Amino acid sequence: MTAQNLPTGEDINSLLEKSLLACGVDLDAVRGDYPTRSPLTGSPLLSVRSDDHSQIDAMISEAQQAFLTWRDVPAPARGALVKRWAELLTEHKADLANVITAQAGKITSEALGEVQEMIDICDLAVGQSRQLFGKTMPSERPGHRLMETWHPLGVVGVISAFNFPAAVWSWNTALALVCGNTVVWKPSENAQLTALAADALLARAVRDVGAPAGLHHVVCAERAGGEQLVDDERVALLSATGSVRMGKEVAPRVAGRFGRLLLELGGNNGAIVAPSADLDLTVRGVVFAAAGTAGQRCTSLRRLIVHESIADQLVDRIVAAYRTLSIGNPLDDGTLVGPLINQASFEGMQKALEQARADGGDVLVGGSRVLADAAEEAYYVEPAVVRMPAQTEVVRAETFAPILYVMTYSDFDEAIELHNGVPQGLSSAVFTNDQAEAERFLSSGGSDCGIANVNIGTSGAEIGGGFGGEKETGGGRESGSDSWRAYMRPATNTVNYSGELPLAQGVKFV
Ligand code: NAD
Repeated sequence: MTAQNLPTGEDINSLLEKSLLACGVDLDAVRGDYPTRSPLTGSPLLSVRSDDHSQIDAMISEAQQAFLTWRDVPAPARGALVKRWAELLTEHKADLANVITAQAGKITSEALGEVQEMIDICDLAVGQSRQLFGKTMPSERPGHRLMETWHPLGVVGVISAFNFPAAVWSWNTALALVCGNTVVWKPSENAQLTALAADALLARAVRDVGAPAGLHHVVCAERAGGEQLVDDERVALLSATGSVRMGKEVAPRVAGRFGRLLLELGGNNGAIVAPSADLDLTVRGVVFAAAGTAGQRCTSLRRLIVHESIADQLVDRIVAAYRTLSIGNPLDDGTLVGPLINQASFEGMQKALEQARADGGDVLVGGSRVLADAAEEAYYVEPAVVRMPAQTEVVRAETFAPILYVMTYSDFDEAIELHNGVPQGLSSAVFTNDQAEAERFLSSGGSDCGIANVNIGTSGAEIGGGFGGEKETGGGRESGSDSWRAYMRPATNTVNYSGELPLAQGVKFV
């Protein structure tokens, strides 16, 4: 593994400031006392404002007011706003990607990929704005029409995690807006500058098309700001992305006020590698999914379940590939692995590795900190591969860092059982050229996850399919397929044009 040179704090700040301005952020308006830092060096970035309870309350009120106008705008005209937003995202793709790299530490190609995903969801939402279909059902009564219509919900609260600091909000916002809702966003406290940059582009789109200004807001706050959205009855839908811990706190509170909830929580994603797998393709798929984004994707590959006949060979090849990964400055073209978000994340990784060793695991490669001399407060690590004798508790928990646990199986049923034997259910994969195995993995008795792939890693989903997971991952679906329905409420309508009043089920009354 090679380590690359780091930028200075000054370099990062100057790039950040230039990029924020290009996105249209008013630096004086967002400046405040809340410290932010770059994971690239640990150095301070622009400090941002902190919104208090009454300011957040005012944002929700404004969003509620704007909703009353926006819901009556025809959906295709709402789509025109999202179309303009996509144009601005395209124009400022590199600027927003720079902010993402400076604040979340993603390598440039992945940061650009995140903005591309925002453009893609806008495209999808613009098309969707002409397809908010309801069904017409045959009525049992003559001269009657029975149909379903879809209506916006109101204010959508979005709580997001640090690792997809802009895309997750855009998945929610592009669809929420075309469906006629307004949005109040509480981004991660580790990604507020990214949120302000992304939101500034939406603000420009709103101005350009003459949409109501109160449609969208960013709450700059710690957890308490998120809790305010959780508890406010005006927030009709709360879409929360983050850890299972957060979901367990949020879910009962929203349910207690009969609010709608969309949860996108932690994953612990596994891949089965069968004897017939194409190992060249498997190695590439595994290394990207496990070491990419420094293991900080909800869909990162964390568990590899390999047939015992090919395990040694595959593991040797993965370890060899890991040794070639370049770790360091995510702004450099050649870098593949950037920093962890912070010290807590590094400590969590070390603790998990210690536990894995205590459980009989063998750390085959990685796990050490690098570049500590160059930046004491930045946390760059070598992605680790650990051969485990069994799926112990540490393997069953999500550690949000680049650790790939490898286990072996002898028969496919056993592989599926191991695969499903964790509390989370986000993404999954099988590498095989045996069609029956592939089909079994995708069948009801196969993977129990929301995403199940064949001959592709667990990360890097496309916008067209619904995204989300089962079990402790929370059951929500975002982005494509028919996820738009989560942002609307259906009504069943019966229209009587018969001139008579026949009752359903043949009931007679007066
Ligand atoms: P986190 O749970 O610490 O924080 C996520 C967000 O929730 C932040 O904005 C935080 O302020 C807020 N929050 C935390 N507790 C809250 C509470 N009690 N009430 C209201 N808001 C609260 O997560 P993180 O460290 O930022 O991100 C990593 C986690 O997110 C991982 O578990 C990862 O798998 C998960 N994640 C899931 C998806 C998905 O789509 N399933 C996507 C990205 C990240």
